[in-house]
Amino acid sequence: MKPILRLPPFLRPATVPLILTAFMGAVVGGAFLDRGLEPPRPAVSALPTAAVAAPAPSPAKAAPIARAPVSPGAFSLGATTPPPPAPPAASPSDPERVVTAVKVGRGDTLFDLLDRAGLERVEAHEVVTSLKGVFDPRRLQVGQVIDLELEQRRGDDDPRLVSLALNLDFAHGLRLARAADGRLAAAQTARRLRTEARAAAARIDDSLYMAARRHDVPDATLLQVIKLFSYDVDFQRDIRPGDRFAVVYEAVATADGGEERTGDLLYAAIETQGRTFTAYRFQPEGGAADYYDEGGRSLRKWLMRTPVDGARLSSGFGRRKHPILGYTRMHKGVDFAAPSGTPIYAAGDGTVVYAGRKGGYGNYVQIRHSAEYGTAYGHMRGFAKGLKKGRRVRQGEVIGYVGTTGRSTGPHLHYEVLKDGTPINPLSLKPQTLAKLEGGTLERFRAQVAKVKALRDGPPPPQFAQRTD
Ligand SMILES: [Zn+2]
Repeated sequence: MKPILRLPPFLRPATVPLILTAFMGAVVGGAFLDRGLEPPRPAVSALPTAAVAAPAPSPAKAAPIARAPVSPGAFSLGATTPPPPAPPAASPSDPERVVTAVKVGRGDTLFDLLDRAGLERVEAHEVVTSLKGVFDPRRLQVGQVIDLELEQRRGDDDPRLVSLALNLDFAHGLRLARAADGRLAAAQTARRLRTEARAAAARIDDSLYMAARRHDVPDATLLQVIKLFSYDVDFQRDIRPGDRFAVVYEAVATADGGEERTGDLLYAAIETQGRTFTAYRFQPEGGAADYYDEGGRSLRKWLMRTPVDGARLSSGFGRRKHPILGYTRMHKGVDFAAPSGTPIYAAGDGTVVYAGRKGGYGNYVQIRHSAEYGTAYGHMRGFAKGLKKGRRVRQGEVIGYVGTTGRSTGPHLHYEVLKDGTPINPLSLKPQTLAKLEGGTLERFRAQVAKVKALRDGPPPPQFAQRTD
């Protein structure tokens, strides 16, 4: 099941009163960002093709993203673009190399394409066979481009294949090349990706959503901002005209600029009713990336009070007349009405101790966060892929989806916070921050803060991609 990216109802344009007035102070721009926290990677070496041989990276985060060691603001397309391959010094006996690209047409098989490119049928067969286990040629899509490097020997009619490369998905490619022993070997590769930091800042005149949209802030980025500050800011009531927001986020593009994705949120700030909340992304050595305020205090709270986006509290904690059973009984949690399929998050780091059917709860998950505290989630439509008893989860990780299984009258999340096994009112939880950065880690964090501030305040650098499509 695919999680649906949903904007909270109060952010959807239809529900936003349009008080369109002029806004000020907009800064939009882009620049490559060297995170500064990772050892600078050398600019990808001058290989003639886009595919850089590398071991298959983990699917979650394409590790070998080519991050050019460019200082913030210093923007240069050339930084990650390899120089064109030097023309080989030709001597009369040298075989001629031809680089060509073929496009997959309707009904084409890989064999057909190689055959048309002039390969001997035996070699075309060898290519198809050597892809086994790495790529299924039936996955080729109409319009897909395959780069071929061929070698034409003098006196030979048919060219021989030197290498073949194609893109598998946004982050991965495939390269098949002839090794020194003459055998063809296929491997997954990391596609060269360019990461660019973008900044936006604006006064909110009508709604946060409208202000963000005018500045091309992606919905996913905006949702993340809301999630980050949801403990401190009530986005339905607190935001007023005149408040301000700022973000610095990454856009990741393929080297050719053909595809683009929203990357990490590096910085967010909300100024509302005289108070300012800031968040900086930072990855401590050996730890996971997280968000910190300017002083280096983790924004991660002990437990989330609302582990679902855009939900409306539909039933509070305490005694109430049960909507199905009819008699008064204790409501051991709080109910959040939300559309079926809305992602539900783990309220805190912990271990899943139950994931399955459980009586009137329907599909139910229970997480243990400490010896003392746990949380429980009921009436779910389904569970996140791979979620089961014993699995470790991180705060904010999707564990399942809102539904109406069990004893329930409509799609909602029934959420319980358990203290020593006894349900307590989740809304009574006091915000409690966890870690604070110290020593050398704090120093590295400060350097990161300075870099992000320069991106936020710096003059708008040139646009990063001269898109032609
Ligand atoms: Zn309930």
